[in-house]
Order: sequence, then structure tokens, then C-alpha cells
Amino acid sequence: MTANMDPGPGAGGSASPAPRRLSILGATGSIGLNTLDLVSSEPGRFEIEALTAGRNARELAELAVRFSARIAVVADPAAYAELRDRLAGTGIEVAAGSEAVAGAAARPTDIVVSAIVGFAGLAPSLAALGSTRILALANKETLVSAGPLFLGAATRAGTRILPVDSEHNAIFQVFEAENADTISEVIITASGGPFLRTPKSELAAVTREMALRHPKWSMGPKITIDSATLMNKGLELIEAYRLYPVSVDQLSILVHPQSVVHGLVRYKDGSLLAELGVPDMRTPIGYCLAWPERRPTTVKPLDLSAVGTLTFEAPDRDRFPCLPLAEAAMRRGDGAPCVLNAANEVAVEAFLADRIAFLDIARVVEATLGKIDGEGGLMEPDSLAEATELDGRARKIALACL
Ligand code: NDP
Repeated sequence: MTANMDPGPGAGGSASPAPRRLSILGATGSIGLNTLDLVSSEPGRFEIEALTAGRNARELAELAVRFSARIAVVADPAAYAELRDRLAGTGIEVAAGSEAVAGAAARPTDIVVSAIVGFAGLAPSLAALGSTRILALANKETLVSAGPLFLGAATRAGTRILPVDSEHNAIFQVFEAENADTISEVIITASGGPFLRTPKSELAAVTREMALRHPKWSMGPKITIDSATLMNKGLELIEAYRLYPVSVDQLSILVHPQSVVHGLVRYKDGSLLAELGVPDMRTPIGYCLAWPERRPTTVKPLDLSAVGTLTFEAPDRDRFPCLPLAEAAMRRGDGAPCVLNAANEVAVEAFLADRIAFLDIARVVEATLGKIDGEGGLMEPDSLAEATELDGRARKIALACL
């Protein structure tokens, strides 16, 4: 890991430690709800500071009451009145707007779980740095769009970044930082998504419903579509490149349909270390919530004899062009990953709205990258303002491509 290595709260492990103060950005989403499920399985271990959502005021209000949050914030100002009315008389603070989400992220805590979907997660993730000791980062778009900026700020602020993404969390567990120079390869696995065996000729006609039917993982709609196009694996390669001190050529992907092995690290002495588990995000989230300890979770233990066979194969870059696009953006560096991410967000939203076909997602991303690179506009963002400007420019071009 490139962020600092300070021991976190709980190091030294007293018998009944003080509750950890926790904020969840994106509490109403798949990662947010899994986090709250773990919180409810350990009564008294956590105190909830802030819960945030995009616009789902009803669910946010229910969660805020159930978990006694100090503040609940919706990003969409139009959802403010509903949130305020639902929480009237509870004593829970209420706020709305993206600045209020960042403000909630910046309240002092022990842990912030950053689980907003998309580029919208960058500003609150940055805002949390310095006010929290640990930032458990699910929002991969933060690292893809502005990795150097974000990790530099985390190091300066003394906030420890822990990866929630299952592959990166797996690698975190088997990556011996002190032996980094003896690591030859970092491998992330991919389930292959719902279209692993779909012929190329049929991909043009796949529907939103088909793409949303992930065979192994239950996740929010955006990452589920990214898993179907394999863009998710491309974003994760960039994420791994940001997080671990390895070269582009030391990173690879293995398709592993059983989703049991999540990540592997190969050492020059011949050892290949892996983390295995059932496909359940509560394992990596629980790891982050407990770090540096390990604590029991309610996750079903992996029964390898029931799984029986583990298979591995190379990804098909021809049928899934989003993957080579992401790999090219990683190699290109500078602002290319930020543009790739922005164009992909626009294209996925359009696909989910039935405005474009499945294979158009890659076309929109490629055209957007080509246009901005042709204009010489792929500079590495050095500030939130620069990242926001580049993201916005890419979105406009991607929208025009639709
Ligand atoms: P979901 O779509 O399920 O949830 C997204 C959350 O973000 C919701 O709380 C949503 O609120 C909130 N939100 C949406 N837009 C905004 C906005 N503009 N400003 C503030 N909040 C917003 O997503 P996931 O939980 O699946 O994914 C979250 C992140 O974690 C993504 O970056 C994803 O790539 C990453 N991740 C997810 C995994 C998973 O298993 N789900 C696995 C690994 C990584 P509302 O409900 O009101 O819309």
C-alpha cells in the first residue's frame, strides 16, 4: 500500500474497546447496507456519526433512526424536505446537497466507509481525509479518476486507506509490503459476468435485464453493468496500479467463474499467495471495520469440498473491448483514466435508460478518449477542481457521442 502505515484504533486490543465512530457515505446502497448489516451484528461496537444517500430520503431516514445516526444527508436538494419531515422530532441533524455530503464526510470519526457510486464519491472521500483515521474505500472511481491526488492527500493527512473492493482487499491481505521487491505479479480475478459464454454475435442485442443478472455478486446497477462489459475489471486494474507498488506489466487478470479466489500475489521464490472466500462483500467490509484485528462475521464459511472445482482462464479482450480500453488508459496515464471513467459513467447510464446498446458502451468510451487525447487534453488532475473539470469535459463529449 502506498498510504501511511499507522496502526489504527483497536491496535493493542483491550477487552471491551470504546465504540468506533463510523460514517457511511452511500448508506442506502449495496455496500452501505452490507456495512450496516455488519454493524447490527455487533451491538455496541460502533456509533454511527453520519449516513448519506443520493436521493432515497425514505430509506435514509429509516436507517438513521434505526442506527441512531447523528446526521443524515441527502445529496439531492429536492429530497431534503422529505428527509427533514421523516426525521422531525428525532434529534437527528438533517442536511442536503453535495457540499453537505462532503461536510458530513469531514466530521471526526474512526472510520469512514466511502461507498457512493461514481465520480460523485471523489469530493466526499477527499473531504474525509484528516478527519478520520481509516477510510475504507469502496468507491473505486476515486482512485481511477484522481488516484495520485487522492493517495497523496491521504498520506499528508495521515488517514489510512483500506480497500473494500474484494480483489484489492484480498491482495491487501497477501501483499507483503516489506517484501515488495520480491513480488513478481499481482493477479485480480474476474467472475466473467453474465456474458462469459455469450458469442460475440449475440452481444449487440443483450438487454439491460440480461446485463443486470450477475451470476455471483449482488451489487448496485452501475457496477453490475461494469461487470458485464468487463469495464469493472479494467477499473480494478487501474485501482490496483494506484494502490500497490507494482508496474503495469506486473498486473494481470484471470477469469475465475466460481468467484472463490479473489486476488493473488506471486513471489519470486515460487510462492503464489491467495485469499479465498464466498462471494460476499461482508467479508472485505468486515475486514476493514475490524482492521488491524480480525473479528468474526456472520458470513457463511467457504466449503471447498462443496465448491469442488476451481477454474481459471484468460479474459477475452475481443468480445469485451472495455477491458483493453481501460488497460490502454492505464498505460497512457495522466488524465486518461479519469476520462475513461467519466465516459463509462455516461454510457452505462444511457444503457440503463435503454438509450444505447450494450456494445455502444465501449464505442462511447473509445470515442471520448480519442477526442480529448486528440485535443491534447489528457493532463493528470492535480486538484479536485481539475479533476472535476476534466470529468465534466469528458461527460459532455460522451453525451454528444450518444
Ligand atoms: P449502489 O448503487 O448500490 O449505491 C450507491 C450509493 O451512493 C447509494 O447510497 C446512493 O444513494 C448513493 N449515491 C448515488 N449517487 C449519489 C450522488 N450523486 N451523491 C451522493 N450519493 C450518491 O452502489 P454500490 O453499493 O454497488 O457501489 C458503491 C461503490 O462501491 C461503487 O463505487 C462500486 O464500484 C463500489 N463497489 C461495490 C461493490 C458491491 O458489491 N456493490 C463491490 C466493490 C466495489 P441512493 O440510494 O439515494 O441512490
